[in-house]
Amino acid sequence: MKLTEKKTQLKGLTLSDLRDFFSSLGEPKFRGDQVFNWIYNHLADNFNEMKNLPATLRSKLNEICTLNSLELLTTQKSNQTNTQKFLFLTTDKNKIEAVLIPEKDRNTLCISTQVGCPLDCKFCATGLMGYKRNLSAAEIIDQYLFAAKNFGKENITNIVYMGMGEPLLNFNSTLNSISIFTNQLNKGISRNRITISTAGIPNKIKELADSGYRVKLAFSLHSAFDSIRNKIMPINKKYPLSENIEALKYYAKKTNTRITFEYTMLKKINDTEADIRQLTKLCRQLPSKINIIPFNSIEHMNPSGISAELKTTEIEKIYSFADKLRNNNITVMIRDTQGNDIAAACGQLAIKFK
Ligand code: SAH
Repeated sequence: MKLTEKKTQLKGLTLSDLRDFFSSLGEPKFRGDQVFNWIYNHLADNFNEMKNLPATLRSKLNEICTLNSLELLTTQKSNQTNTQKFLFLTTDKNKIEAVLIPEKDRNTLCISTQVGCPLDCKFCATGLMGYKRNLSAAEIIDQYLFAAKNFGKENITNIVYMGMGEPLLNFNSTLNSISIFTNQLNKGISRNRITISTAGIPNKIKELADSGYRVKLAFSLHSAFDSIRNKIMPINKKYPLSENIEALKYYAKKTNTRITFEYTMLKKINDTEADIRQLTKLCRQLPSKINIIPFNSIEHMNPSGISAELKTTEIEKIYSFADKLRNNNITVMIRDTQGNDIAAACGQLAIKFK
């Protein structure tokens, strides 16, 4: 092999891509199944561990392939909850974060799909940091493999794509990672324990529906009015609510799942009686529920403009907002804030580039 040639990354390849890869080497396809099993069930980090591969193949893999992706830089643990935040370094020296949220009946890993985010939502720290690049499927999966290795694979029960970035703008890598998580050979995470969260890319929502994976979909709504969404989520100018709602109806129908509307409470922006009426109208159009999230501070990013003015709705008012929706027969959850003290809560993940 020439030194300039890049080694093939085997992490993040779907099972069928791995089989094809071994075919292309002139090996039987089942070598793909074996390597898949080593990476995702035995959490192998190098080819020497893969004892059921012939020694000649192992040394060939050492020469032309790699499993090296993320390096862990630091771990921070919240003093208030058991939430932990992991800071990783990519091989090209970018930093990304993942968060592990232990709860009574489950442990949820929140993973990133991009370095930064291009969407510039005004309430989100990641939006304020700007955008560098998409993560590869290997980098998405490696966040999970790291957590699985450290906390036990069986202890990571749920995965949410709610870290840095917009998963549907990194569609192929996101889809490949879902394919790996849900593959039967990868004994672990079933489709109804995986949630993709999107700010709303209608054609990709439909494509995800057509993919057949039937994972849960969360839509970052934050207002049922286009006029308000335009102000706090610039992407809404390109893809207004009507287009997203149509795509979400398609998703709900095709996958037979219920859409979760994420709703970050912003004082005097989306917490009025008119908001309750509009939200109710919207929710009645499709199988859905609302997840209310108190707005988490983004002060650590030194926000300016509208971002600097945002405040959370007071907790009593959040409760009454939720109750009024419930009186209209809407299912509403209020999400606990997890890991605020280490900037690990929803929308707080950010790394300053400089
Ligand atoms: N880009 C995707 C996933 C990342 S954000 C999306 O937009 O859905 C995960 C969730 O946290 C989203 O619902 C997002 O709107 C919400 N969020 C962002 N900033 C927040 C903040 N400061 N406080 C509370 N929730 C926030």
